[in-house]
Amino acid sequence: MKILLLGKNGQVGWELQRSLAPLGELVALDRHPVDGLCGDLSDLDAVSATIRKIMPDVIVNAAAYTAVDKAESDVEHAFLVNGRASKVLAEEAKALDAWLVHYSTDYVFNGQGSSPWQETDDVAPLNQYGESKLAGEKAIIASGCKYLIFRTSWVYGARGNNFAKTMLRLAKDRETLNVIADQIGAPTGADLIADVTALAVRQASQQPQLSGLYHLVASGEVSWHGYASHVIAFAKANGEQLAVTAVTPIDTAAYPTPAKRPLNSRLNTQKLRDNFSLHLPDWQSGVNRMLREVLNK
Ligand code: NDP
Repeated sequence: MKILLLGKNGQVGWELQRSLAPLGELVALDRHPVDGLCGDLSDLDAVSATIRKIMPDVIVNAAAYTAVDKAESDVEHAFLVNGRASKVLAEEAKALDAWLVHYSTDYVFNGQGSSPWQETDDVAPLNQYGESKLAGEKAIIASGCKYLIFRTSWVYGARGNNFAKTMLRLAKDRETLNVIADQIGAPTGADLIADVTALAVRQASQQPQLSGLYHLVASGEVSWHGYASHVIAFAKANGEQLAVTAVTPIDTAAYPTPAKRPLNSRLNTQKLRDNFSLHLPDWQSGVNRMLREVLNK
């Protein structure tokens, strides 16, 4: 199996370099050209030419415009990378009879209610990032290629910046941290996403009927405030010297951002677990593992 991985240095892309390697020959690109190959999703012609040259059996797209607030004022660029490039990848996959693996987001939903969203629920993004990711989903589904789209949420990796690391950094100097308590979701490790991707690709390549849209998040749910409290408690229990004495819950309304965010980011993962016979661990086990790595414990 020949696999083309795009976005190899993002949180998920980095872990995919590891998890996809045993499946076959892996060509991994970031946005910088190398050996006449181009993985820059804002250069649509060059990306098409690259796919035609490599002729992969599977294209895994971990690249995306992920700057949620910036997307509000950089709409065209967000739609180019998340929408139009996804269409090009899907058309090239269709022409090669290849699989396209792609990632999307809980931000396609409007965040109302408290039930975990199912794949069949109506979408209604609250921000431009969500709209651009939805445009990507729609283009892939309309293309007629074989695809796996995984909607995920609240992604963290040991490498790069993430919410938990930010909380730890702030907790070193501040006595009080104010953290949003009315947005609920599931922190999901880039390593879990990558491992599930590899398992799913292997299974789907034998069973094309598995082509489809799936929700992929760790089990359980928590608010950003609960997540921050967990991180701080874990760090303290493991001997970190922190100035923080209080993690205070605040409402979304008290922390205005350019992009509106959904309150209910719960995703129902039943379809993924049933179709691929998978178990999704609770969010705490992955977060604790990442914290041990970050804190060197
Ligand atoms: P990251 O922001 O960590 O990585 C995105 C990668 O895409 C970066 O390596 C970035 O490269 C690359 N990229 C951006 N623009 C381009 C471009 N024009 N051409 C090529 N590469 C580009 O994202 P994650 O790994 O966290 O996200 C993976 C997927 O999961 C994405 O589809 C995202 O939308 C989705 N997702 C993420 C969530 C999260 O909380 N992070 C939540 C829900 C879904 P560079 O570093 O050079 O800019």
